[in-house]
Amino acid sequence: MHGLPVSEGVAFGHALRLKKEPITVPLTGCEDASKCFDMLEKAMHQSVEDLKKLKEKAAKKLSASDLEIFDAHIQMTTDIEIIKAVKNRIQNDHEHPAKAYQTVSQEFQTMFEAMDDPYFKERATDIKDVAYRVLTYLVGKTPQDLGMLSRPTVIIADDLTPSDTASLDLDFVAGFVTRTGGYTSHTAIMARSLSIPAIAGVKDALEIPSDALIFLDAYNGDIFINPTASEKRTLTQKLEKELAFKETLKAYVDLSTTKDKHPVLTYANIGSPADLPLALSQKALGIGLFRTEFLFMDAPEAPSLDAQIKAYEAVFKAFKTVIVRTLDIGGDKQLPYLKMPHEENPFLGHRAIRLCFEEIDLFKTQLQAILIAGCVTDHVKIMFPMIARVDEVIKAKGLLDEVKKALDVAKTPYQKNIEIGIMIEIPAAALNTEAFCEHVDFFSIGTNDLIQYTYAADRMNQKVSYLYEPLDPTLLRLIDHVVKAAKKKGKDVGVCGEMAADPVAAQILIGLGIDELSMSAGSLTKVRYALHQKTILQHQAIAEKALLQKDALSVKQLFQ
Ligand code: PEP
Ligand code: MG
Repeated sequence: MHGLPVSEGVAFGHALRLKKEPITVPLTGCEDASKCFDMLEKAMHQSVEDLKKLKEKAAKKLSASDLEIFDAHIQMTTDIEIIKAVKNRIQNDHEHPAKAYQTVSQEFQTMFEAMDDPYFKERATDIKDVAYRVLTYLVGKTPQDLGMLSRPTVIIADDLTPSDTASLDLDFVAGFVTRTGGYTSHTAIMARSLSIPAIAGVKDALEIPSDALIFLDAYNGDIFINPTASEKRTLTQKLEKELAFKETLKAYVDLSTTKDKHPVLTYANIGSPADLPLALSQKALGIGLFRTEFLFMDAPEAPSLDAQIKAYEAVFKAFKTVIVRTLDIGGDKQLPYLKMPHEENPFLGHRAIRLCFEEIDLFKTQLQAILIAGCVTDHVKIMFPMIARVDEVIKAKGLLDEVKKALDVAKTPYQKNIEIGIMIEIPAAALNTEAFCEHVDFFSIGTNDLIQYTYAADRMNQKVSYLYEPLDPTLLRLIDHVVKAAKKKGKDVGVCGEMAADPVAAQILIGLGIDELSMSAGSLTKVRYALHQKTILQHQAIAEKALLQKDALSVKQLFQ
Protein backbone atom coordinates (compact mmCIF):
# COMPACT_ATOMS: atom_id res chain seq x y z
CA MET A 1 0.00 0.00 0.00
CA HIS A 2 1.05 3.55 -0.47
CA GLY A 3 0.26 6.86 1.18
CA LEU A 4 1.58 10.28 2.02
CA PRO A 5 4.69 10.22 4.24
CA VAL A 6 3.90 12.79 6.93
CA SER A 7 6.55 11.92 9.49
CA GLU A 8 9.79 10.47 8.15
CA GLY A 9 11.36 7.22 9.30
CA VAL A 10 11.16 3.46 8.98
CA ALA A 11 9.42 1.02 11.27
CA PHE A 12 8.75 -2.67 11.79
CA GLY A 13 5.87 -3.75 13.97
CA HIS A 14 2.65 -5.69 14.37
CA ALA A 15 -0.48 -3.99 13.13
CA LEU A 16 -3.01 -2.87 15.71
CA ARG A 17 -6.30 -1.52 14.41
CA LEU A 18 -7.57 1.31 16.51
CA LYS A 19 -11.17 0.40 17.04
CA LYS A 20 -13.64 3.20 17.21
CA GLU A 21 -16.85 1.32 17.80
CA PRO A 22 -19.70 3.33 16.34
CA ILE A 23 -21.77 4.79 19.13
CA THR A 24 -25.45 3.91 19.02
CA VAL A 25 -27.42 6.58 20.79
CA PRO A 26 -30.56 5.46 22.63
CA LEU A 27 -33.80 6.13 20.83
CA THR A 28 -35.56 6.75 24.11
CA GLY A 29 -36.31 10.36 24.89
CA CYS A 30 -35.75 12.34 28.04
CA GLU A 31 -38.58 12.52 30.52
CA ASP A 32 -36.84 14.32 33.32
CA ALA A 33 -34.78 17.22 31.99
CA SER A 34 -32.89 17.85 35.22
CA LYS A 35 -31.80 14.17 35.39
CA CYS A 36 -30.65 14.38 31.77
CA PHE A 37 -28.75 17.60 32.52
CA ASP A 38 -27.00 15.72 35.34
CA MET A 39 -26.03 12.91 32.93
CA LEU A 40 -24.59 15.49 30.57
CA GLU A 41 -22.64 17.26 33.35
CA LYS A 42 -21.25 13.93 34.55
CA ALA A 43 -20.11 12.82 31.08
CA MET A 44 -18.46 16.18 30.52
CA HIS A 45 -16.80 16.08 33.91
CA GLN A 46 -15.42 12.55 33.26
CA SER A 47 -14.15 13.66 29.85
CA VAL A 48 -12.42 16.71 31.28
CA GLU A 49 -10.80 14.56 34.00
CA ASP A 50 -9.57 12.12 31.29
CA LEU A 51 -8.12 14.95 29.25
CA LYS A 52 -6.34 16.39 32.28
CA LYS A 53 -4.80 12.98 33.02
CA LEU A 54 -3.79 12.50 29.39
CA LYS A 55 -2.20 15.92 29.41
CA GLU A 56 -0.24 15.06 32.55
CA LYS A 57 0.97 11.82 30.96
CA ALA A 58 1.83 13.49 27.67
CA ALA A 59 3.69 16.31 29.41
CA LYS A 60 6.65 13.95 29.80
CA LYS A 61 6.95 13.52 26.05
CA LEU A 62 5.49 16.57 24.34
CA SER A 63 6.53 20.20 24.17
CA ALA A 64 4.45 22.94 25.78
CA SER A 65 3.04 24.03 22.42
CA ASP A 66 2.00 20.46 21.53
CA LEU A 67 0.29 20.19 24.91
CA GLU A 68 -1.93 23.17 24.14
CA ILE A 69 -4.22 20.85 22.21
CA PHE A 70 -5.38 19.27 25.46
CA ASP A 71 -6.42 22.65 26.81
CA ALA A 72 -8.22 23.32 23.56
CA HIS A 73 -10.08 20.01 23.95
CA ILE A 74 -10.99 20.79 27.53
CA GLN A 75 -12.34 24.12 26.35
CA MET A 76 -14.34 22.43 23.58
CA THR A 77 -15.76 19.92 26.05
CA THR A 78 -17.05 22.72 28.23
CA ASP A 79 -17.98 25.06 25.38
CA ILE A 80 -20.90 27.19 26.46
CA GLU A 81 -22.48 27.35 22.97
CA ILE A 82 -22.44 23.58 22.57
CA ILE A 83 -23.84 22.96 26.07
CA LYS A 84 -26.57 25.53 25.53
CA ALA A 85 -27.62 23.93 22.24
CA VAL A 86 -27.61 20.41 23.77
CA LYS A 87 -29.64 21.52 26.78
CA ASN A 88 -32.15 23.21 24.47
CA ARG A 89 -32.73 19.97 22.61
CA ILE A 90 -33.09 18.05 25.89
CA GLN A 91 -35.50 20.60 27.35
CA ASN A 92 -37.53 21.49 24.26
CA ASP A 93 -37.38 18.34 22.12
CA HIS A 94 -37.11 15.88 25.03
CA GLU A 95 -34.15 14.18 23.40
CA HIS A 96 -31.87 11.74 25.20
CA PRO A 97 -28.67 13.67 26.13
CA ALA A 98 -26.57 11.38 23.88
CA LYS A 99 -28.85 12.01 20.89
CA ALA A 100 -28.92 15.75 21.58
CA TYR A 101 -25.13 15.91 22.00
CA GLN A 102 -24.53 13.88 18.83
CA THR A 103 -26.73 16.16 16.72
CA VAL A 104 -25.20 19.36 18.04
CA SER A 105 -21.59 18.22 17.71
CA GLN A 106 -22.28 17.04 14.16
CA GLU A 107 -23.62 20.49 13.31
CA PHE A 108 -20.42 22.08 14.64
CA GLN A 109 -18.28 19.58 12.73
CA THR A 110 -20.06 20.34 9.48
CA MET A 111 -19.60 24.04 10.06
CA PHE A 112 -15.82 23.67 10.51
CA GLU A 113 -15.47 21.22 7.63
CA ALA A 114 -17.05 23.80 5.32
CA MET A 115 -14.42 26.42 6.14
CA ASP A 116 -11.85 27.29 3.47
CA ASP A 117 -8.95 27.73 5.81
CA PRO A 118 -7.20 24.33 6.13
CA TYR A 119 -6.42 25.07 9.78
CA PHE A 120 -10.09 25.50 10.72
CA LYS A 121 -11.08 22.57 8.51
CA GLU A 122 -8.80 20.33 10.57
CA ARG A 123 -10.52 21.52 13.77
CA ALA A 124 -13.58 19.49 12.78
CA THR A 125 -11.50 16.45 13.80
CA ASP A 126 -11.00 17.94 17.25
CA ILE A 127 -14.74 18.37 17.73
CA LYS A 128 -15.27 14.78 16.61
CA ASP A 129 -12.61 13.60 19.06
CA VAL A 130 -14.14 15.48 21.98
CA ALA A 131 -17.64 14.32 21.04
CA TYR A 132 -16.59 10.67 20.83
CA ARG A 133 -15.34 10.74 24.41
CA VAL A 134 -18.38 12.55 25.82
CA LEU A 135 -20.76 10.30 23.88
CA THR A 136 -18.98 7.13 25.04
CA TYR A 137 -19.65 8.20 28.64
CA LEU A 138 -23.20 9.28 27.83
CA VAL A 139 -24.05 5.77 26.62
CA GLY A 140 -22.51 4.28 29.77
CA LYS A 141 -19.21 3.01 28.31
CA THR A 142 -15.52 3.81 28.89
CA PRO A 143 -13.16 4.97 26.09
CA GLN A 144 -10.57 2.43 24.79
CA ASP A 145 -7.27 2.41 26.68
CA LEU A 146 -4.24 2.19 24.40
CA GLY A 147 -1.65 2.52 27.12
CA MET A 148 -0.89 -1.21 27.48
CA LEU A 149 1.14 -2.43 24.51
CA SER A 150 3.71 -5.19 24.85
CA ARG A 151 5.55 -5.35 21.49
CA PRO A 152 6.53 -3.00 18.64
CA THR A 153 3.23 -1.92 17.14
CA VAL A 154 2.12 -0.03 14.05
CA ILE A 155 -1.15 1.69 14.80
CA ILE A 156 -3.69 1.57 11.98
CA ALA A 157 -6.58 3.98 12.19
CA ASP A 158 -9.03 6.05 10.24
CA ASP A 159 -7.33 9.02 11.81
CA LEU A 160 -5.74 9.41 15.19
CA THR A 161 -6.99 12.08 17.48
CA PRO A 162 -4.59 13.97 19.74
CA SER A 163 -5.87 12.18 22.80
CA ASP A 164 -5.50 8.78 21.06
CA THR A 165 -1.91 9.64 20.26
CA ALA A 166 -1.11 10.87 23.72
CA SER A 167 -2.69 7.89 25.44
CA LEU A 168 -0.54 5.43 23.48
CA ASP A 169 2.25 3.51 25.14
CA LEU A 170 4.99 5.22 23.22
CA ASP A 171 7.66 2.72 24.25
CA PHE A 172 6.04 0.28 21.84
CA VAL A 173 4.49 2.43 19.15
CA ALA A 174 6.67 1.96 16.08
CA GLY A 175 4.57 3.86 13.54
CA PHE A 176 1.20 5.12 12.37
CA VAL A 177 -0.84 4.44 9.26
CA THR A 178 -4.05 6.41 8.76
CA ARG A 179 -6.73 6.30 6.10
CA THR A 180 -7.39 10.04 6.21
CA GLY A 181 -5.41 13.10 7.25
CA GLY A 182 -2.61 15.05 5.64
CA TYR A 183 0.54 16.93 6.51
CA THR A 184 -1.26 19.29 8.88
CA SER A 185 -3.49 16.70 10.56
CA HIS A 186 -2.87 16.15 14.25
CA THR A 187 -1.55 12.65 13.73
CA ALA A 188 1.08 14.11 11.43
CA ILE A 189 2.00 16.99 13.72
CA MET A 190 2.19 14.78 16.82
CA ALA A 191 4.03 12.01 14.98
CA ARG A 192 6.64 14.48 13.80
CA SER A 193 7.17 15.94 17.23
CA LEU A 194 7.43 12.44 18.72
CA SER A 195 9.70 11.32 15.82
CA ILE A 196 7.41 8.40 15.04
CA PRO A 197 7.20 7.41 11.36
CA ALA A 198 3.73 8.00 9.95
CA ILE A 199 1.95 7.57 6.62
CA ALA A 200 -1.42 9.24 6.07
CA GLY A 201 -4.04 9.11 3.33
CA VAL A 202 -3.75 5.34 2.81
CA LYS A 203 -6.98 4.51 0.99
CA ASP A 204 -7.21 0.87 2.10
CA ALA A 205 -5.57 1.28 5.51
CA LEU A 206 -8.46 -0.35 7.34
CA GLU A 207 -8.06 -3.51 5.24
CA ILE A 208 -4.71 -4.21 6.94
CA PRO A 209 -5.35 -7.25 9.14
CA SER A 210 -4.68 -6.79 12.84
CA ASP A 211 -1.51 -8.60 13.93
CA ALA A 212 0.03 -8.58 10.42
CA LEU A 213 3.71 -7.74 10.40
CA ILE A 214 4.09 -4.31 8.92
CA PHE A 215 7.10 -2.70 7.37
CA LEU A 216 6.73 1.05 7.08
CA ASP A 217 8.89 3.14 4.80
CA ALA A 218 7.76 6.61 5.80
CA TYR A 219 10.37 8.26 3.62
CA ASN A 220 8.61 7.12 0.47
CA GLY A 221 5.15 6.36 1.84
CA ASP A 222 5.34 2.59 1.19
CA ILE A 223 3.72 -0.02 3.43
CA PHE A 224 4.68 -3.70 3.14
CA ILE A 225 2.32 -6.20 4.76
CA ASN A 226 3.81 -9.52 5.91
CA PRO A 227 6.95 -9.18 3.73
CA THR A 228 8.82 -12.40 2.89
CA ALA A 229 12.22 -12.99 4.52
CA SER A 230 14.08 -12.02 1.37
CA GLU A 231 11.90 -8.92 0.85
CA LYS A 232 12.62 -7.98 4.43
CA ARG A 233 16.36 -8.35 3.90
CA THR A 234 16.36 -6.26 0.72
CA LEU A 235 14.16 -3.61 2.31
CA THR A 236 16.27 -3.45 5.43
CA GLN A 237 19.47 -3.01 3.43
CA LYS A 238 17.96 -0.41 1.15
CA LEU A 239 16.55 1.50 4.07
CA GLU A 240 19.70 1.27 6.17
CA LYS A 241 21.56 2.91 3.31
CA GLU A 242 18.84 5.49 2.91
CA LEU A 243 18.74 6.11 6.64
CA ALA A 244 22.48 6.69 6.78
CA PHE A 245 22.15 9.20 3.91
CA LYS A 246 19.16 10.89 5.54
CA GLU A 247 21.21 11.15 8.72
CA THR A 248 23.94 12.91 6.71
CA LEU A 249 21.35 15.16 5.10
CA LYS A 250 20.09 16.39 8.48
CA ALA A 251 23.10 18.67 8.73
CA TYR A 252 22.00 20.41 5.53
CA VAL A 253 18.44 21.31 6.46
CA ASP A 254 19.63 24.73 7.48
CA LEU A 255 22.77 25.06 5.38
CA SER A 256 22.32 26.76 2.05
CA THR A 257 25.86 27.53 0.90
CA THR A 258 28.59 26.09 -1.26
CA LYS A 259 31.57 24.40 0.41
CA ASP A 260 33.38 27.77 0.62
CA LYS A 261 30.35 29.39 2.31
CA HIS A 262 29.11 31.22 -0.78
CA PRO A 263 25.40 31.69 0.07
CA VAL A 264 22.83 30.16 -2.28
CA LEU A 265 19.18 31.19 -2.22
CA THR A 266 17.14 28.00 -2.11
CA TYR A 267 13.40 28.68 -2.19
CA ALA A 268 10.24 26.59 -2.28
CA ASN A 269 7.46 26.35 -4.88
CA ILE A 270 3.95 26.33 -3.45
CA GLY A 271 0.39 26.13 -4.80
CA SER A 272 -1.55 27.39 -1.78
CA PRO A 273 -1.15 28.32 1.91
CA ALA A 274 -1.63 24.61 2.69
CA ASP A 275 1.89 24.01 1.36
CA LEU A 276 3.43 26.45 3.85
CA PRO A 277 4.08 24.01 6.74
CA LEU A 278 6.33 21.82 4.60
CA ALA A 279 8.15 24.83 3.13
CA LEU A 280 8.70 26.18 6.66
CA SER A 281 9.82 22.86 8.09
CA GLN A 282 12.31 22.45 5.25
CA LYS A 283 13.64 25.94 6.01
CA ALA A 284 12.96 27.39 2.57
CA LEU A 285 14.55 30.84 2.41
CA GLY A 286 11.62 32.23 0.46
CA ILE A 287 8.90 31.29 -2.02
CA GLY A 288 10.30 31.40 -5.54
CA LEU A 289 7.04 30.40 -7.23
CA PHE A 290 3.54 30.71 -5.84
CA ARG A 291 1.41 28.92 -8.47
CA THR A 292 -1.74 30.91 -7.74
CA GLU A 293 -3.88 29.06 -10.28
CA PHE A 294 -4.30 26.22 -7.79
CA LEU A 295 -6.43 28.54 -5.64
CA PHE A 296 -8.69 28.89 -8.67
CA MET A 297 -8.68 25.24 -9.69
CA ASP A 298 -9.63 23.86 -6.28
CA ALA A 299 -12.95 25.71 -6.25
CA PRO A 300 -16.26 25.56 -8.13
CA GLU A 301 -15.92 29.27 -8.94
CA ALA A 302 -13.19 31.89 -8.94
CA PRO A 303 -12.20 32.81 -5.39
CA SER A 304 -13.53 36.20 -4.33
CA LEU A 305 -11.30 39.22 -3.85
CA ASP A 306 -11.43 38.70 -0.08
CA ALA A 307 -10.64 34.99 -0.27
CA GLN A 308 -7.65 35.77 -2.47
CA ILE A 309 -6.43 38.52 -0.15
CA LYS A 310 -6.60 36.06 2.74
CA ALA A 311 -4.62 33.40 0.90
CA TYR A 312 -1.93 35.84 -0.32
CA GLU A 313 -1.63 37.41 3.12
CA ALA A 314 -1.08 34.00 4.72
CA VAL A 315 1.84 33.39 2.36
CA PHE A 316 3.30 36.91 2.70
CA LYS A 317 3.21 36.59 6.49
CA ALA A 318 5.03 33.27 6.44
CA PHE A 319 7.93 34.29 4.18
CA LYS A 320 9.81 37.54 3.71
CA THR A 321 10.36 36.99 0.00
CA VAL A 322 7.50 35.67 -2.10
CA ILE A 323 7.24 35.62 -5.88
CA VAL A 324 3.57 35.51 -6.77
CA ARG A 325 2.95 34.24 -10.26
CA THR A 326 -0.25 35.49 -11.82
CA LEU A 327 -2.74 32.96 -13.18
CA ASP A 328 -1.27 30.30 -15.44
CA ILE A 329 -4.44 28.66 -16.71
CA GLY A 330 -4.60 26.70 -19.95
CA GLY A 331 -2.44 23.86 -21.22
CA ASP A 332 -3.11 21.07 -18.75
CA LYS A 333 -4.73 23.40 -16.20
CA GLN A 334 -8.41 24.03 -16.85
CA LEU A 335 -10.99 26.09 -15.01
CA PRO A 336 -14.42 24.46 -15.36
CA TYR A 337 -16.18 27.77 -14.77
CA LEU A 338 -14.34 29.61 -17.58
CA LYS A 339 -15.53 29.15 -21.12
CA MET A 340 -12.43 27.59 -22.57
CA PRO A 341 -13.04 26.38 -26.10
CA HIS A 342 -11.37 23.23 -27.34
CA GLU A 343 -7.90 23.89 -28.75
CA GLU A 344 -5.88 21.64 -31.05
CA ASN A 345 -2.64 22.49 -29.25
CA PRO A 346 -3.50 23.79 -25.78
CA PHE A 347 0.13 24.18 -24.73
CA LEU A 348 0.68 26.44 -27.76
CA GLY A 349 -2.64 28.13 -27.36
CA HIS A 350 -4.60 30.51 -25.25
CA ARG A 351 -2.68 30.01 -22.04
CA ALA A 352 -1.52 32.01 -18.98
CA ILE A 353 -0.94 35.72 -19.71
CA ARG A 354 -2.60 35.33 -23.13
CA LEU A 355 -5.80 34.15 -21.48
CA CYS A 356 -5.56 36.83 -18.77
CA PHE A 357 -5.53 39.52 -21.48
CA GLU A 358 -9.00 38.30 -22.44
CA GLU A 359 -10.29 37.56 -18.92
CA ILE A 360 -9.45 41.10 -17.82
CA ASP A 361 -11.75 41.14 -14.75
CA LEU A 362 -10.35 37.91 -13.44
CA PHE A 363 -6.80 39.19 -13.99
CA LYS A 364 -7.39 42.63 -12.49
CA THR A 365 -9.14 41.17 -9.44
CA GLN A 366 -6.11 38.98 -8.85
CA LEU A 367 -3.69 41.91 -9.21
CA GLN A 368 -5.85 43.95 -6.85
CA ALA A 369 -5.82 41.15 -4.26
CA ILE A 370 -2.03 40.80 -4.46
CA LEU A 371 -1.52 44.55 -4.07
CA ILE A 372 -3.87 44.81 -1.07
CA ALA A 373 -2.48 41.70 0.62
CA GLY A 374 0.98 43.13 -0.01
CA CYS A 375 0.39 45.64 2.81
CA VAL A 376 1.43 42.95 5.30
CA THR A 377 4.94 42.84 3.82
CA ASP A 378 7.37 45.06 1.98
CA HIS A 379 8.56 42.42 -0.43
CA VAL A 380 5.90 41.83 -3.04
CA LYS A 381 7.16 40.37 -6.27
CA ILE A 382 4.72 39.78 -9.10
CA MET A 383 5.69 37.49 -11.95
CA PHE A 384 3.92 37.13 -15.29
CA PRO A 385 3.93 33.66 -16.91
CA MET A 386 4.35 32.63 -20.56
CA ILE A 387 5.74 35.91 -21.79
CA ALA A 388 6.92 35.63 -25.40
CA ARG A 389 7.32 39.28 -26.45
CA VAL A 390 8.15 42.61 -24.86
CA ASP A 391 4.77 44.15 -25.74
CA GLU A 392 3.09 41.54 -23.50
CA VAL A 393 5.02 42.76 -20.45
CA ILE A 394 4.20 46.35 -21.30
CA LYS A 395 0.52 45.45 -21.58
CA ALA A 396 0.50 43.47 -18.31
CA LYS A 397 2.22 46.35 -16.49
CA GLY A 398 -0.30 48.77 -18.01
CA LEU A 399 -3.15 46.73 -16.50
CA LEU A 400 -1.35 46.68 -13.16
CA ASP A 401 -1.12 50.49 -13.30
CA GLU A 402 -4.85 50.71 -13.99
CA VAL A 403 -5.53 48.58 -10.91
CA LYS A 404 -3.26 50.79 -8.80
CA LYS A 405 -5.02 53.94 -10.03
CA ALA A 406 -8.42 52.49 -9.14
CA LEU A 407 -7.13 51.67 -5.66
CA ASP A 408 -5.78 55.22 -5.32
CA VAL A 409 -9.17 56.64 -6.26
CA ALA A 410 -10.92 54.35 -3.78
CA LYS A 411 -8.28 55.29 -1.17
CA THR A 412 -7.67 51.60 -0.53
CA PRO A 413 -4.24 51.00 0.97
CA TYR A 414 -1.97 48.74 -1.07
CA GLN A 415 1.69 47.89 -1.43
CA LYS A 416 3.41 50.39 -3.69
CA ASN A 417 6.86 48.87 -3.54
CA ILE A 418 6.53 45.95 -5.92
CA GLU A 419 9.05 44.23 -8.09
CA ILE A 420 7.94 42.95 -11.47
CA GLY A 421 9.39 39.90 -13.11
CA ILE A 422 8.63 37.50 -15.91
CA MET A 423 9.01 33.81 -16.41
CA ILE A 424 11.42 32.78 -19.11
CA GLU A 425 9.79 29.66 -20.42
CA ILE A 426 9.46 30.37 -24.13
CA PRO A 427 12.65 30.18 -26.23
CA ALA A 428 11.82 33.47 -28.01
CA ALA A 429 11.84 35.27 -24.65
CA ALA A 430 15.04 33.52 -23.61
CA LEU A 431 16.81 34.70 -26.76
CA ASN A 432 15.48 38.21 -26.28
CA THR A 433 16.32 38.55 -22.57
CA GLU A 434 18.28 41.76 -23.03
CA ALA A 435 15.29 43.59 -24.48
CA PHE A 436 13.14 42.69 -21.46
CA CYS A 437 15.63 44.11 -18.96
CA GLU A 438 14.40 47.71 -19.07
CA HIS A 439 10.86 46.54 -18.23
CA VAL A 440 11.44 44.06 -15.41
CA ASP A 441 13.28 43.71 -12.12
CA PHE A 442 13.96 39.98 -12.30
CA PHE A 443 13.60 36.81 -14.32
CA SER A 444 12.72 33.27 -13.34
CA ILE A 445 13.38 30.45 -15.77
CA GLY A 446 10.54 27.94 -15.98
CA THR A 447 12.46 24.96 -17.26
CA ASN A 448 9.40 22.69 -17.30
CA ASP A 449 8.00 24.66 -20.20
CA LEU A 450 11.28 25.95 -21.61
CA ILE A 451 12.34 22.35 -22.26
CA GLN A 452 9.07 21.39 -23.93
CA TYR A 453 9.09 24.44 -26.20
CA THR A 454 12.80 24.21 -27.06
CA TYR A 455 12.66 20.54 -28.04
CA ALA A 456 9.04 20.51 -29.25
CA ALA A 457 8.42 17.71 -26.76
CA ASP A 458 5.08 17.75 -24.92
CA ARG A 459 5.87 17.64 -21.19
CA MET A 460 2.87 15.33 -20.66
CA ASN A 461 3.70 12.83 -23.40
CA GLN A 462 5.57 9.78 -22.19
CA LYS A 463 6.52 8.81 -25.75
CA VAL A 464 8.66 11.90 -26.29
CA SER A 465 10.06 11.98 -22.79
CA TYR A 466 13.49 10.96 -24.13
CA LEU A 467 13.72 14.50 -25.51
CA TYR A 468 12.84 15.96 -22.17
CA GLU A 469 16.36 16.19 -20.79
CA PRO A 470 17.34 19.09 -18.48
CA LEU A 471 21.05 18.33 -18.79
CA ASP A 472 21.12 18.62 -22.57
CA PRO A 473 23.88 21.15 -23.42
CA THR A 474 21.62 23.00 -25.88
CA LEU A 475 19.29 23.88 -23.03
CA LEU A 476 22.23 24.76 -20.80
CA ARG A 477 23.53 27.13 -23.46
CA LEU A 478 20.11 28.79 -23.70
CA ILE A 479 20.07 29.27 -19.92
CA ASP A 480 23.62 30.60 -20.06
CA HIS A 481 22.50 33.15 -22.63
CA VAL A 482 19.66 34.33 -20.36
CA VAL A 483 21.97 34.67 -17.35
CA LYS A 484 24.66 36.60 -19.24
CA ALA A 485 22.16 38.97 -20.87
CA ALA A 486 20.37 39.64 -17.55
CA LYS A 487 23.60 40.12 -15.60
CA LYS A 488 24.84 42.70 -18.09
CA LYS A 489 21.90 44.85 -16.98
CA GLY A 490 22.16 43.91 -13.31
CA LYS A 491 18.98 41.77 -13.18
CA ASP A 492 18.59 38.66 -11.03
CA VAL A 493 17.74 35.30 -12.55
CA GLY A 494 16.18 32.37 -10.72
CA VAL A 495 15.06 28.93 -11.83
CA CYS A 496 11.70 27.63 -10.65
CA GLY A 497 11.19 24.58 -12.88
CA GLU A 498 11.75 21.05 -11.61
CA MET A 499 15.29 21.16 -12.98
CA ALA A 500 16.24 23.14 -9.86
CA ALA A 501 15.32 20.11 -7.74
CA ASP A 502 17.80 17.85 -9.53
CA PRO A 503 21.02 17.80 -7.47
CA VAL A 504 23.29 17.60 -10.55
CA ALA A 505 21.40 20.22 -12.56
CA ALA A 506 21.28 22.51 -9.51
CA GLN A 507 25.08 22.51 -9.34
CA ILE A 508 25.35 23.48 -13.00
CA LEU A 509 22.75 26.22 -12.59
CA ILE A 510 24.63 27.76 -9.68
CA GLY A 511 27.83 27.44 -11.71
CA LEU A 512 26.18 29.32 -14.57
CA GLY A 513 25.40 32.21 -12.22
CA ILE A 514 21.74 31.57 -11.37
CA ASP A 515 20.89 33.62 -8.25
CA GLU A 516 18.09 31.55 -6.78
CA LEU A 517 16.76 28.00 -7.08
CA SER A 518 13.12 27.32 -6.28
CA MET A 519 11.75 23.79 -6.03
CA SER A 520 9.27 21.55 -4.26
CA ALA A 521 10.11 21.85 -0.58
CA GLY A 522 10.80 18.13 -0.19
CA SER A 523 13.85 18.46 -2.47
CA LEU A 524 15.54 21.35 -0.67
CA THR A 525 17.79 19.33 1.62
CA LYS A 526 19.20 17.01 -1.02
CA VAL A 527 19.91 19.97 -3.32
CA ARG A 528 21.60 21.86 -0.49
CA TYR A 529 23.74 18.81 0.22
CA ALA A 530 24.82 18.61 -3.44
CA LEU A 531 25.62 22.34 -3.61
CA HIS A 532 27.74 22.07 -0.50
CA GLN A 533 30.01 19.41 -1.97
CA LYS A 534 31.94 21.93 -4.11
CA THR A 535 33.23 25.49 -3.91
CA ILE A 536 31.63 28.15 -6.11
CA LEU A 537 34.70 28.11 -8.35
CA GLN A 538 34.37 24.35 -8.77
CA HIS A 539 30.68 24.72 -9.68
CA GLN A 540 31.61 27.40 -12.22
CA ALA A 541 34.38 25.30 -13.74
CA ILE A 542 32.16 22.27 -14.17
CA ALA A 543 29.33 24.41 -15.61
CA GLU A 544 31.70 25.85 -18.19
CA LYS A 545 32.72 22.35 -19.20
CA ALA A 546 29.07 21.27 -19.35
CA LEU A 547 28.37 23.99 -21.91
CA LEU A 548 30.95 22.45 -24.22
CA GLN A 549 29.65 18.88 -24.10
CA LYS A 550 27.89 17.23 -27.02
CA ASP A 551 25.07 15.55 -25.11
CA ALA A 552 23.44 15.03 -21.70
CA LEU A 553 25.31 11.80 -21.10
CA SER A 554 28.69 13.47 -21.33
CA VAL A 555 27.41 16.23 -19.01
CA LYS A 556 26.44 13.56 -16.46
CA GLN A 557 29.86 11.97 -16.78
CA LEU A 558 31.46 15.18 -15.54
CA PHE A 559 29.95 14.35 -12.17
CA GLN A 560 31.29 10.80 -11.84
C1 PEP B 1 7.82 25.91 -15.57
O1 PEP B 1 7.26 25.92 -16.65
O2 PEP B 1 8.99 25.51 -15.38
C2 PEP B 1 7.10 26.35 -14.36
C3 PEP B 1 7.71 26.47 -13.21
O3 PEP B 1 5.78 26.57 -14.47
P1 PEP B 1 4.67 25.41 -14.53
O4 PEP B 1 5.36 24.10 -14.20
O5 PEP B 1 3.65 25.79 -13.52
O6 PEP B 1 4.21 25.49 -15.93
MG1 MG C 1 5.43 26.99 -16.97
